[in-house]
Amino acid sequence: MKIALIAHDKKKNEIIELAKEYKDVLDGNELYATGTTGTLIMGETALPIHRMKSGPLGGDQQIGAMLANGELGLIIFLRDPLTAQPHEPDVSALLRLCDVQKIPLATNASSAIIMLEALKSGKVAKYVTDFGTDDILCEENIICMPHLG
Ligand code: PGA
Repeated sequence: MKIALIAHDKKKNEIIELAKEYKDVLDGNELYATGTTGTLIMGETALPIHRMKSGPLGGDQQIGAMLANGELGLIIFLRDPLTAQPHEPDVSALLRLCDVQKIPLATNASSAIIMLEALKSGKVAKYVTDFGTDDILCEENIICMPHLG
């Protein structure tokens, strides 16, 4: 599964700690991140990560494009709710696309832990958004969110 990792500056330490704690779980997936977040996590964990541009320079929109194409299975985006961001419109657009595509999104460390624990336990093998194929729909431990619109 493709997983995106993003953290605002004051949340970078939290996402690094999460990545260290769940390194084994993350390692079985294809990881994407905005520029600075990805560089920091790679430096601390040696996990391979596809790095986009830095968030304020368009990285959130690049992740958003992947979302729009239905490529991402899960997003951890640790937002800083107490600091104004110059790229707030990009952040809002990304969050909106998660809801459009019904992609699981964790915006704080507590919800990220719940998602990562679900993956780790094996109870959830994969989150699948709209238009799952027949073979996926019949597999065990896959959570499907059907298209209702
Ligand atoms: P960054 O971007 O990982 O390049 O800091 C994150 C963001 O602010 O959206």
